[in-house]
Amino acid sequence: MADPNIAESPFPSIPVAPKMYDGSKNISFRCYKGISCWNACCANIDITLTPYDIVRLKTRLEMESGEFLRQYTEPYELEKDGIAGVKFKPVEGGRACQFMTPEGCSVYEDRPTSCRYYPVALVSMRKQDEYTDSAAYALVKEPHCKGHEEDRTLTIDAYRQEQGVAGYDEQDRGWRQLILKKKSSGPTIGKPSLRSRQLFFIACYDVDLFRQFVASDGFQQSFVLEETEFYQLMRDDVAMMQFGIRFIKQVMFGEMTIQTREEAVKAREAKVLAQQQAQIERRNYDAANEPADLT
Ligand code: SF4
Ligand code: SF4
Repeated sequence: MADPNIAESPFPSIPVAPKMYDGSKNISFRCYKGISCWNACCANIDITLTPYDIVRLKTRLEMESGEFLRQYTEPYELEKDGIAGVKFKPVEGGRACQFMTPEGCSVYEDRPTSCRYYPVALVSMRKQDEYTDSAAYALVKEPHCKGHEEDRTLTIDAYRQEQGVAGYDEQDRGWRQLILKKKSSGPTIGKPSLRSRQLFFIACYDVDLFRQFVASDGFQQSFVLEETEFYQLMRDDVAMMQFGIRFIKQVMFGEMTIQTREEAVKAREAKVLAQQQAQIERRNYDAANEPADLT
């Protein structure tokens, strides 16, 4: 019988042990400057970035998202025949992370999700008959990483808290759901058009370019945004990123959360009609209840 769970690791190239755990699983691990393998993990990278990772890093580096993507990342095929993901681009001519220094990570406070999780991997899962996803974890054991030999035991939940991943997971939840949904729908929605794939990339990873799109006449002619929401999107990268995920869910899966102009016109017409109807009814009522003229 087929496994009803659709499990996808966001870190496909890491040799993830097939066993899945929940957050109460105890692991033995410690990483610290001075350990014999210091920086070994950052010297040979294959790191997938989430939309929130990109927002955090481009903000820290005070860069436009497009500039950040060009300098620090490269695209890859996240989903066969479908949509693109983004990975760190290593140093020229090598495999080391561009942010690695002898002292450690130069963007430590804003390091990406997979760097925080390591040596744990988050595995988002979705049952075929459910839309919501659930999290499970796998343990990554690579020979170069000596942290597993350290004498410290803690649960995966405690490790997640220590590494500050909960906020990252929350911010990227919609994106993970989107990918799971695309993967599980498979041939039923087929290969997205080039335009949909480009929109997916921009909406998920290139927040500043997506902002220009939202501010464009073309977008304004097709969609309705409240003034307060519009101004928030114009200045807040995280809000813009979340709006991008909503937009892609609407475009690719018909999950309508952004009102279109057509809907707005119909809603306005229906409101005017209802007001006219109420006026007619009130007039009829007043006429019927007017006192009779007995003179
Ligand atoms: S971002 Fe930091 S922790 Fe992650 S691979 Fe690069 S140097 Fe290592
Ligand atoms: S213990 Fe593992 S995570 Fe820490 S520096 Fe060594 S290889 Fe990297």
